[in-house]
Formats: sequence, structure tokens, C-alpha cells
Amino acid sequence: MPKIANSLTQSHQYIERFVEPGDIVIDATAGNGNDTVFLAKLVGENGKVFAFDIQKVAIERTREKLLKIGLMDRVELINDGHENLDKYIQNSVKAVMFNLGYLPGGDHKIGTKAETTICAIEKAMELLVAGGLISIVVYHGGDSGFEEKNRVMEYLYNIDPKKYTVMKTEFINQPNCPPILVCIEKIG
Ligand code: SAM
Repeated sequence: MPKIANSLTQSHQYIERFVEPGDIVIDATAGNGNDTVFLAKLVGENGKVFAFDIQKVAIERTREKLLKIGLMDRVELINDGHENLDKYIQNSVKAVMFNLGYLPGGDHKIGTKAETTICAIEKAMELLVAGGLISIVVYHGGDSGFEEKNRVMEYLYNIDPKKYTVMKTEFINQPNCPPILVCIEKIG
């Protein structure tokens, strides 16, 4: 078993370092609900997860997973775009997870888009507490193409270093465009 984990696993490893029981967090792309379940476990019974997805099917898959393990009470599922997150959340949040691209097992033509992703990252950075973390797993190539990755990366490279630390982890010798992990920590 290699000790360098893939980007998705690494995003969980970083999020685990930041999130504590009782925290308020956001899953910006609920999809099949795996990250929402992961966050719901981390925040515990006194915490709260807001989970967004534009697709009803994703929201329902996520709801089903949460109900099965009895964690629905600490999650608010929102069938709307993450670019509107400020309409639903006024609290400060400890962490925000983005897992870009399309719904696995769903329509590959419905995926995240540069403009709305950047808008949501901007709003998430505003809501983030000092010492909080945003993780972004960026899929590219294949059905995801390169437009979103290129524009999101350009935005991320220009974030004010006095306010945020931005880290990118990229696998540089692997075929088929493995996903990139970006972490944004708000400086306290
Ligand atoms: N985190 C998910 C999981 O654990 O299964 C996987 C997410 S999947 C790669 C990306 C999801 O983003 C899709 O379900 C898609 O519908 C959703 N999405 C696309 N545009 C969105 C937007 N503007 N706001 C919220 N979700 C969006």
C-alpha cells in the first residue's frame, strides 16, 4: 500500500486536522454524499454540515446515505448552487470541501463550472474563520476538460498571500490527469 495517498484521501487527511466536534462546515458539492458523511461524522452531534448540489439526484443519494447511518439530523441538504451559499449561511465556518467535476454514476455533462466555482470559493473564503480550511479536489481532462481547471488555478494563484496560504499537490508522473488537491488556509 503506497504511503502517498491520492488527492481525495489527502483532502480528508487535511480536513481532519482542522475540523472538531461542534464545528460548522460546508460540503460545496454533495454528489454521492461521501464527503458529506465524512464531515457529518467529524462535526459530531453538536456540529452542522451544509451540503449543496444543483442536482436533485445527488441530494437524494446523499440523504439516503445519511439516513442509513442516522446522521441526517446534523446536515442541511440544499438543492442549489454553491455560488449561492451566502443566501443560506451567515455563520462563520471551519471548513469547506469542494470536489469538482461531474456526479459519478450521473450525467457527465452536468459538472462544476469555472465561473460558479470561483464565485463559491470567494464566498467560502469570506465565511471561513481564521485558522479554517478550504479543500478543493480539481478533476481535469476526460469529460471534465481543462477550462475549469485552468481558470480556477489562475484565480487561486492570485489569492492574497497576506490573508491566505494556498497549497497545491499535483501528481506529475502519472497518466490520465490525476486530480489536483488545493488547500486554502485562512491566516489567523
Ligand atoms: N463530493 C461528492 C461525493 O462525495 O460523492 C462528489 C462530488 S461530484 C465530483 C461533483 C458534484 O458537483 C456533482 O454532483 C454536481 O452535480 C455538483 N455541482 C455541479 N455544479 C454545482 C454547483 N454550482 N453547486 C453545487 N454543486 C454543483
